[in-house]
Amino acid sequence: MISTKEQKSAAWHHLQVDEVLEKLQTDQEKGLSSDEAEKRLQQFGPNELPEQNNRGPLMRFLVQFHNMLIYVLMAAAVVTALMDHWIDTWVILAVVLINAIIGFVQEGKAEEALDNLKKMLSLKAHVIRDGNRQEIDANLVVPGDIIELESGDKIPADVRIIYERNLKAEESALTGESQPVQKTIEPVDEDALIGDRKSLGYKSTMITYGRATAVVIGTGANTEIGKINTMMTEVEKLTTPLIRQIDEFGKTLSLMIIALVAVMFAVGYFFHDYELSDLFLAVIGLAVAAIPEGLPAIMTITLALGVQRMASKNAIIRKLPSVETLGSVTVICSDKTGTLTKNEMTVRTVITSDKSFSVEGTGYAPKGDILYQDKKVSVDETNTLKKLIQTVQLCNNAEIEKEGDSWNLKGDPTEGALITLGLKSELKTDDFKRLDIIPFESENKFMATLNDSGNDKRFIFLKGAPERILEMCSEQQTDSGSESLDHDYWADQIEAIASKGERVMAAAIKQVDNSVSEIDMEDVKTGITFLGLIGMIDPPRPEAIEAIKTCKEAGIKVKMITGDHVSTAKAIGEQLGICDGKEAITGTELEKATDEELIEISMKYDIFARTSPEHKLRLVTALQAQDEIVAMTGDGVNDAPALKRSNVGVAMGIKGTEVTKEASEMVLTDDNFVSIAAAVKEGRTIYDNLRKTILFILPTNGAEAFVILTAISIGIALPITPAQILWVNMVTAVTLALALSFEPTEAGVMKRPPRDSKNPIIGSYFIWRIVFVSLLIGGFTLLLYSYLKSEGYVIEEARTIAVNVLVAGQVFYLYNCRYLRDSIFRKGFFANKYAQIAVAVLIVFQMVFVYAPFMNAWFGTMPIKTMYWGWVLAAGFIVFLLVELEKWGFNVYDRRKLSQNG
Ligand code: ADP
Ligand code: MG
Repeated sequence: MISTKEQKSAAWHHLQVDEVLEKLQTDQEKGLSSDEAEKRLQQFGPNELPEQNNRGPLMRFLVQFHNMLIYVLMAAAVVTALMDHWIDTWVILAVVLINAIIGFVQEGKAEEALDNLKKMLSLKAHVIRDGNRQEIDANLVVPGDIIELESGDKIPADVRIIYERNLKAEESALTGESQPVQKTIEPVDEDALIGDRKSLGYKSTMITYGRATAVVIGTGANTEIGKINTMMTEVEKLTTPLIRQIDEFGKTLSLMIIALVAVMFAVGYFFHDYELSDLFLAVIGLAVAAIPEGLPAIMTITLALGVQRMASKNAIIRKLPSVETLGSVTVICSDKTGTLTKNEMTVRTVITSDKSFSVEGTGYAPKGDILYQDKKVSVDETNTLKKLIQTVQLCNNAEIEKEGDSWNLKGDPTEGALITLGLKSELKTDDFKRLDIIPFESENKFMATLNDSGNDKRFIFLKGAPERILEMCSEQQTDSGSESLDHDYWADQIEAIASKGERVMAAAIKQVDNSVSEIDMEDVKTGITFLGLIGMIDPPRPEAIEAIKTCKEAGIKVKMITGDHVSTAKAIGEQLGICDGKEAITGTELEKATDEELIEISMKYDIFARTSPEHKLRLVTALQAQDEIVAMTGDGVNDAPALKRSNVGVAMGIKGTEVTKEASEMVLTDDNFVSIAAAVKEGRTIYDNLRKTILFILPTNGAEAFVILTAISIGIALPITPAQILWVNMVTAVTLALALSFEPTEAGVMKRPPRDSKNPIIGSYFIWRIVFVSLLIGGFTLLLYSYLKSEGYVIEEARTIAVNVLVAGQVFYLYNCRYLRDSIFRKGFFANKYAQIAVAVLIVFQMVFVYAPFMNAWFGTMPIKTMYWGWVLAAGFIVFLLVELEKWGFNVYDRRKLSQNG
């Protein structure tokens, strides 16, 4: 067995293929045995790069202390200690510690949520082991494994190419060079640099063209990318533009508050006769009250919970900022096949030069007959039909397997349907051996294979979009021989099939010389005989019809982009409710249009047929030129530029290639349009909840700051002590604020138009609301406190009641915040059960705070008379009513303004 040292030191790029295989003790055809692979996995370890930058728990804990407020608090702890106010010192230190723990736990949860998303997107590799092709986790690949690569794959390990057809790889991840490099099996110079080692493929680089078989030479840390170790698994920051802005806003605010603190210190010192230590504590209290230190953490949690919910609805977010973009999407451009339709193809029609056949049955089960004029036919009766079916059987990569009672497809559904057709016809094609292939690509719209018949004849079998195949042919097959191509006849037949909404395919054949063993584009230009047409149905997904309606109601345009025939596209578009009778346009016409014309076209049409991937890119660009926020789906390698360009690139999780996924913001695990609509809805919800959180938390700080500011300005004892403020902030942060992260989607969220991405987060209305509520809650607190003081109550009792007024105000205000603008009376008041739980927990906290003797000692509180709970609740309730009244007033005002304008 090969030693680790040898594996590392060998000049694999310089060796011949057979030397490589020999050194690695593996077999090109059979691959490793599973036992051997297991042993090598033990020896070389899993094919993983060492995780970088992943902060350990200790670091994550310490970071919690790196925060402006904490510094202020630490300073306060020192000062109180110097002044011998030991209880205050301990309370402050305890709060600092508990805050850090809360932050630590929350951040951990959020990171875990993200890690789980990453795991859902783990890479797969196609290996040959024990002589069979199998799909395994890329982590389990070992040196010596034979792997198969094709365009769109991400190379799972460092490999030596041992077979290739037109292989090109894009290695910018490693070399920074974004031009694809042509690969070869020929050895290269021993001292060639990494970028010039054309016989090697590197881990984490992308195959952009062609296909290959390769042998793994290095895994995990023993790969080039592992060696440079500047791994691209940059830890993604748990943030979005909104959170960043709030973060910045918080920092500026903190600085302003510290300046204010200094001013207030001067005011208290020069204009009132506070004792220095009291004054000091008072201004500390102000800082603690006003700095919204919990806000970013709560927003992060809201975001993490949101993306987790999205993942449970089959939409995995790869780039967090796109969560916000999703909420403002105005156009969704979606693939048809598989995303809007079921991608369960069944052949219905077969047409040759003189006959039209219908096919019975549904799904991939080979049950049903081929009928001609309602009578069963056998393929042996009609020569043309036989050749046609033979062609689409052999020019095919799909397999149909019977498992129990069900027939399962391995491969492309379009091809699967053709295999089923072959099984229904009972035609045998086992004698043919495939020698070469031109794989199907969306640009070419056809596929060809070169096969040996087993009795000294070689054929090229072709299938593809009928227009493409007809272009190549001059003859058509008849039962007795061949005749010249009847273009009009075929055009009519194509239209007849397509307008039923069936996908149309054509097949053709060419006999070649026995010496031919490879084919390329040149070989399929002339001398080809047209065999006929095949029509297959692919029913729309019923749930997609519903989702399209929802999107339209939500002010989002849905556009369908497909490679299919224009009539097929139009018929399916009608069934889906996309086009509402509007015409469809084809790729050919797009090609002719200038960029300016395309801007108009992109808005006018909703169905784009016979397109190729480059049209997608032009469409996105045209739509964006009109300020549309575009979500674009894709699966193939060549869709990647369009996905990158779009505002939200959406890759297909099942049929999408790695390259496409890498270029995307979001991956759909079920390839279903419905999941895009669900993600948009969830995106809007997350954005709402983030805004609700801001709208809830800032007035809390505002109210507290208002109370302290007023007290210092007029020179009275603080209605709430700094320790008490710390308490309030801590208990409400873990209860009330968190509840908003779980806020369910508002019922009307998909009834309103997309958010204008240019609108500021904190607009004038927000500022008004924050000030209004701050004054309300703060005002009540002050009012009650001064009343109680004037009635001669001891300060401890007055303060305890003041704290409870503050908390009650927040509890009630939480319910106001559950709906930004709508009245809560019209909606499910108790629809968010987390709000009730939060309130219940908070009540327990407050009871302990008021009645537990040790809390009385620490926080300077005391049990209050039962009747005051009534006052406290009344104050909170009035706040609640006033805010609802305010919402109502603004809504009436808005409607007036609207009706005046319109
Ligand atoms: P879509 O965007 O709807 O998936 P494609 O680009 O995949 O469309 O296919 C466009 C056309 O190419 C189809 O209408 C069909 O005629 C032809 N086609 C599709 N799949 C294959 C295939 N595997 N082999 C040959 N031709 C195909
Ligand atoms: Mg397709």
